[in-house]
Amino acid sequence: KEEALELRKLNGSKVTGHDVPLPIGSFEDLISRFRLSKILLQNLIANNFNEPTAIQSEAIPCALFNRDLIACAPTGSGKTLAFLIPLVQNILASNIRSKKRKGGENKGSEEKRIKGLIISPTKELAQQINNQLNKITENLGIKTGYLNKSLASKFRSGVSKASKFDIIVTTPLRLIDLVKNSALDLSYVEFLVFDEADSLFQSDFLEQTDAILSALTSPKLCKSIFSATITSHVEELAHGIMKDPVRVIIGLKEA
Ligand code: ADP
Ligand code: MG
Repeated sequence: KEEALELRKLNGSKVTGHDVPLPIGSFEDLISRFRLSKILLQNLIANNFNEPTAIQSEAIPCALFNRDLIACAPTGSGKTLAFLIPLVQNILASNIRSKKRKGGENKGSEEKRIKGLIISPTKELAQQINNQLNKITENLGIKTGYLNKSLASKFRSGVSKASKFDIIVTTPLRLIDLVKNSALDLSYVEFLVFDEADSLFQSDFLEQTDAILSALTSPKLCKSIFSATITSHVEELAHGIMKDPVRVIIGLKEA
């Protein structure tokens, strides 16, 4: 424990909230503390993600404990993996639980539900997040999709079933369009991430953010927001939609 607190100090991480989990010193820590999938760990190593960055070391345990999270860390500090790693692990665990409940009788073409949803303000960023996600989900049996025009129209026409996906990465408008047309069921989403929350919570996006939140009806829903800067305005909004969040600030808090 002392070591973990020392690491927090060393990284200059400011962490506040009730019962804040201790940071991890290495990705291997996740195996003993959270029974992280060994394949997931291998995928990290294979992509040269050997040691967690400061934001990863704090944010990953929080999300693995299903805590709502407000995370602020500079550009280039590894925020993407800070939300992707626990998201993937949580979904693996959730899928195992679902399978057990069904007695493991359904082999092959089992129904999936979208359990993870990542919202990005731009298409380019959404695509980058999905690329990163594809790298770390290799051989895990997790299906992810970037909601581009073509995938959206496949959902709308029923050619591609949303039930094949575990995680969807999208911009707000594309998603809302599908939800309005009942082409996408978000009621099973357990993990929601807003990336670059500062943009997403700006007034022109705010209505869209609200529309998304109202489609997410699972009582298990766990929310995170990530940004390089978190204004007090965003923080206020975030607190309004979160339950007992942990707040992690790496480096200087701006604004
Ligand atoms: P941010 O979203 O905070 O701006 P990114 O998630 O885009 O940062 O990460 C920036 C770069 O750092 C990316 O190229 C990513 O692959 C790399 N990176 C992230 N985490 C690690 C890690 N643990 N070890 C090595 N490289 C990493
Ligand atoms: Mg980023």
